[in-house]
Amino acid sequence: MAESGEEALWCTREEHTAERLKDDCTPTETSVEQKKVETAVGSIYATVRDHLSDFPLVLQRELHSHYLRKGLQHLSESYECLDASRPWLCYWIVHSLTLLDEPIPESVASSVCQFLARCQGPNGGFAGGPSQQPHLAPTYAAVNALCTIGTEEAYNVINRETLLQFLYALKQPDGSFNMHVGGEVDVRSAYCAASVASLTNIITPKLFDGTAEWIARCQFWEGGIGGVPGMEAHGGYTFCGLAALVILKRVHLLDMKSLLRWVAFRQMRFEGGFQGRCNKLVDGCYSFWQAGLMPLIHRTLHAEGDPALSLTNWMFDQKALQEYILLCCQCPSGGLLDKPGKSRDFYHTCYCLSGLSIAQHFGSGEILHETIVGVPENTLKPTHPVYNIVPDKVAGAVLHFMQKEIPEVKVE
Ligand SMILES: [Zn+2]
Repeated sequence: MAESGEEALWCTREEHTAERLKDDCTPTETSVEQKKVETAVGSIYATVRDHLSDFPLVLQRELHSHYLRKGLQHLSESYECLDASRPWLCYWIVHSLTLLDEPIPESVASSVCQFLARCQGPNGGFAGGPSQQPHLAPTYAAVNALCTIGTEEAYNVINRETLLQFLYALKQPDGSFNMHVGGEVDVRSAYCAASVASLTNIITPKLFDGTAEWIARCQFWEGGIGGVPGMEAHGGYTFCGLAALVILKRVHLLDMKSLLRWVAFRQMRFEGGFQGRCNKLVDGCYSFWQAGLMPLIHRTLHAEGDPALSLTNWMFDQKALQEYILLCCQCPSGGLLDKPGKSRDFYHTCYCLSGLSIAQHFGSGEILHETIVGVPENTLKPTHPVYNIVPDKVAGAVLHFMQKEIPEVKVE
């Protein structure tokens, strides 16, 4: 079943203009910045309102694919600062292309596998580049990229035995994980560990002992989850915490209603996109980190038998988010971005597209429902809200690694 954008766009409706911030004539640094963004976004929405027929809402698939494909072959000098994040670039690009249903040529996929193999450390895990120190963030990115490629060659890159050793080396007595040996602890590491361990079938009874309880302690009084216990709620950490608890099947440790309330209020009333924290500006990447929480929350409440749940929509304005991404986040020369005035990059391209996919596809149990703003060709592939990999690639990896024994690793 599909709904299309026949009716007026949300951003062109009369009542939309009333959603601008009111600062009660007391400007602050925050309200001034917020008004600047509303002015930029508002002028785009006003142009659309006045010339709607000249602005078909089109996802520029060709331009985005071209930008992504070029990035996979050669990165410009401005990416030098991401030298320690090269597996991330691989993941952002291959996942974005997969969402766009663009095939990755076999030879390119194979050279990505060979490159990621060179990033794998001798004692397990993946580093940001060859000969660097293994770290959980690039490990997550590398495993996600390899599972998205989904070939035998890709799966064979992952050394599951040393990966499990690496995870044990990072595990702390309180249940949390270090990001790297001797490194910092935060909710990201718990999610990265749970994600790679569940995809590659190396979860042992001891590996996540105490982890769920530690994550639950990071739920802040606002309802969202902070980086460590007592820290302000933040979209990225909240996604990591909730997705990790879904993997560990311990979501009941969270106050789900207060989490839902927190994330619902992070969708901006005027812009339609999401902010990462209370009082911050809209940013395209939170289209995934925040909106991606909604399927996880919906399914949890559904499993609890909540009768008030919709059978067609997530608990946010899916059309408003799509309008923000399509109108405000597309770079005219391909790629997507944070907000008008910012430049494109592969990170924002990946998470804007992932968020757009979440906003297009509703699914709960057997029930599927699509809400597509603009032309039907805007439809992306769905994404798995726990891993942010397309669902058939998750299934492929799980099936592949399920046939293998869980490695036996000595723990000191
Ligand atoms: Zn961002």
